[in-house]
Amino acid sequence: MARYTGESCRVCRREGEKLFLKGSRCYTDKCAITRRAYAPGQHGQKRKKQSEYGTQLREKQKAKAFYGVLESQFRKYFEEAARSKGVTGTRLLQILESRLDNVVYRLGLATSRAQARQLVRHGHFEVNGVKVNIPSYLTKVGEVVKVKESSANSEIFKQIIEATENGRPVPTWLESDLSNKTGKIVALPARDEIDLPVQEHLIVELYSK
Ligand code: SF4
Repeated sequence: MARYTGESCRVCRREGEKLFLKGSRCYTDKCAITRRAYAPGQHGQKRKKQSEYGTQLREKQKAKAFYGVLESQFRKYFEEAARSKGVTGTRLLQILESRLDNVVYRLGLATSRAQARQLVRHGHFEVNGVKVNIPSYLTKVGEVVKVKESSANSEIFKQIIEATENGRPVPTWLESDLSNKTGKIVALPARDEIDLPVQEHLIVELYSK
């Protein structure tokens, strides 16, 4: 699947928020937002007044960058959220959170969503005992995500576990067992458990025009 391959830190600077796209670097003072907290480019330091449409668009772009999803797929998620029961904006975020690459990242089995995406694509994960190599696979409550037996002792997972063990907390809607490189989805995430800095109602308004 196509994805954005540009410079991650430029995306954060453009949105004016830390979107944690680069793994452990994001938690250090090397973070570009810490060092240059203004938009990239020649006119990045000028203040611009944003239209209503511009504000809605920026919220959507921020969410897409956060989860590494391109427009066509993002729109499909929105349509699915609009069809399902509940608040559309919250449902949209729950669908995005249930992507396998995001769950792998949230469980601490990858240092960034980009790395999670690559590891899933390379076939290192099983869901309920079956190999799944599709990062956009939507996990369900009750499913168990596990690093494949043959990959579990590889150097890459040793490094990931070392990097994440004392770092990011695992959200309460997931159960993580890092020593066995496994985790379970125990509930749907509530909005306040999703640390995405967007106002999702603006995305709903944008698509509802
Ligand atoms: Fe964003 Fe991480 Fe780059 Fe900081 S280091 S600007 S959080 S991608």
